[in-house]
Amino acid sequence: MAAYRAPVDDIRFLLLQVLRAPDALQAAPAFAEADAGLIVQVLEEAGKFVELAVAPLQAVGDTPGCRLVDGNVVTPPGFASAYRAFWQAGWPALACAPEDGGQGLPWVLEGVLYEMLSGANHGWTMAPGLLHGAYECLKHHGSEELKARYLAKVASGEWLATMCLTEAHAGSDLGLVRTQAVPQADGSHRIAGTKIFISGGAHDLTDNIVHLVLAREPGAPPGPKGLSLFLAPKVLADGARNAVVCERIEEKMGLHGSPTCVLRFDRATGWRVGEAGRGLAAMFVMMNAARLHVGLQGIGLLEAAWQLAHAYAQERTQMRAPGPLRGDGAADPIIRHPAVGRILDTERAWIDGLRVLAYRTGIELDLARHHSDAERRQAAQQWCSLVTPVLKAVATDAGFHGASRCLQVFGGHGYVKEWGIEQIVRDSRIAMIYEGTNEIQAIDLLVRKVLPDGGAAVGALLDRLAGELPGATPADAQVLRRFDALRAVTAQLVAASAGDPVLAYAAADDYLRAVGLALFGWAWRLVEATPGADAPRWSRPAGAARLRVLPEFEMRLQILRAQCAAPGHSSTAPA
Ligand SMILES: Cc1cc2nc3c(=O)[nH]c(=O)nc-3n(C[C@H](O)[C@H](O)[C@H](O)COP(=O)(O)OP(=O)(O)OC[C@H]3O[C@@H](n4cnc5c(N)ncnc54)[C@H](O)[C@@H]3O)c2cc1C
Repeated sequence: MAAYRAPVDDIRFLLLQVLRAPDALQAAPAFAEADAGLIVQVLEEAGKFVELAVAPLQAVGDTPGCRLVDGNVVTPPGFASAYRAFWQAGWPALACAPEDGGQGLPWVLEGVLYEMLSGANHGWTMAPGLLHGAYECLKHHGSEELKARYLAKVASGEWLATMCLTEAHAGSDLGLVRTQAVPQADGSHRIAGTKIFISGGAHDLTDNIVHLVLAREPGAPPGPKGLSLFLAPKVLADGARNAVVCERIEEKMGLHGSPTCVLRFDRATGWRVGEAGRGLAAMFVMMNAARLHVGLQGIGLLEAAWQLAHAYAQERTQMRAPGPLRGDGAADPIIRHPAVGRILDTERAWIDGLRVLAYRTGIELDLARHHSDAERRQAAQQWCSLVTPVLKAVATDAGFHGASRCLQVFGGHGYVKEWGIEQIVRDSRIAMIYEGTNEIQAIDLLVRKVLPDGGAAVGALLDRLAGELPGATPADAQVLRRFDALRAVTAQLVAASAGDPVLAYAAADDYLRAVGLALFGWAWRLVEATPGADAPRWSRPAGAARLRVLPEFEMRLQILRAQCAAPGHSSTAPA
């Protein structure tokens, strides 16, 4: 099996040449020192850590995976020492504020680090995956007392954190959460209820675990407005174990390196984070970054699958490839067969195009937080709000389906464990589901963000993207034509939705896909216009993007137009 290689050169090209990240980031005073030298240094060091410490644990993460022994979760051999090396080297604190012990670097670099980590070992990466979100949540909503006790440990990664939202009857609809939090005279709360599917709910990687728990105080109104957020540590300040019990870890399709726990809170001690009834708002502080993280998981996993398939296709020989006859009668490497090259080029196109979008969104996230100009912060926030759900859904979809297509390159050998590709297919499937299913992302985009202002925000985003196109070439015109078509279909949806309250919900997935493809075409146009992108490394996937990916845009438009033209049709639920 080929070892995972951190794609540092590719990432460097996209960040520095295509996106000119240093110029963009240095516009914010907080990142004045984020020049090309610093960015490259971080990328190279991150790449080394990923390749040497984390990638070698990929197979052991799958088998034996995590085990529950006497109520304690035992992680796979090597996981704990790799995690210790990770936090001791300061990686979790990369994008945390210097006053909290962090390095104050741009979030986009943390995003790139996590993309590589996920590609190398998705299961292991789940453990620190929620840390930064927990840090932001505590920093913005925690009381001074909570911050004094937990913030630095969470920032450094010495203690890991969880996000405890889901219950058996409350998944996408968190308004149904029943876990109770009863206030005590000393200002603490007693938390009672059972959470399911909690990633890293119990493990042996750190001495303590900081659980962030969504629960309801007595008398709170039903639904989302009655939810508050609480912090309940595994170990209390006096060293006693809190009443948080791991009842079970799930047997899953993949991701065996990450323990997915049923956690029972038996009147556990906790403290409220933020105001009563504002629990979801406190969690949403971390939502854009967390969803972007999951999109990057999709990209990282597809990169890992592509690397395996590409290496295999160069070694495996079968039949003669079509072309001029040779006299030797020898079979060719399968990469010479157009059917195989087509898969590799197309998946490469997805990875590169989505990377541009994801990194640019990471930069916008940094600017939304740190730019000194309020108008620029607002524009960056608008970008993140619209593009994040698109990226989460499109990149995780590409991650799983693309990994499956890469498995095809192996023929039957891909279906057996030896080559590692089937693990990636299994591991990547979850990203389409957690952190808000991809259907919920689509509704978030169309119903909550596009329709309410009649498409104005999405129109402004398209104007902005159009303004960044390199020039008046036919290729630019193609991108603009897609934007115009998107504007037109958005207007149609706005008009038709007025008379059909169900339409937007039925059309949301096709709409998100159309937006994703329009942005993907724009991203590839930026790549193509960059000096050096005429090399086959970039021109081959650019061709595949045009030939095999972007035509789907027209198909999505047709579906959307047909739905708008047949009011009521969308409301028909299957019997
Ligand atoms: C491995 C793993 C790790 C996880 N980690 C965590 C974690 O750390 N913390 C945590 O709190 N949770 C976690 N989850 C839970 C995850 O976030 C939920 O599974 C997810 O939010 C979906 O909820 P559900 O499974 O109850 O599905 P449901 O909400 O029941 O959805 C079922 C189907 O219906 C669709 N659907 C539901 N409502 C709507 C709607 N309004 N409109 C359109 N379609 C809809 C969904 O898209 C889906 O296709 C994890 C889950 C897994 C499997």
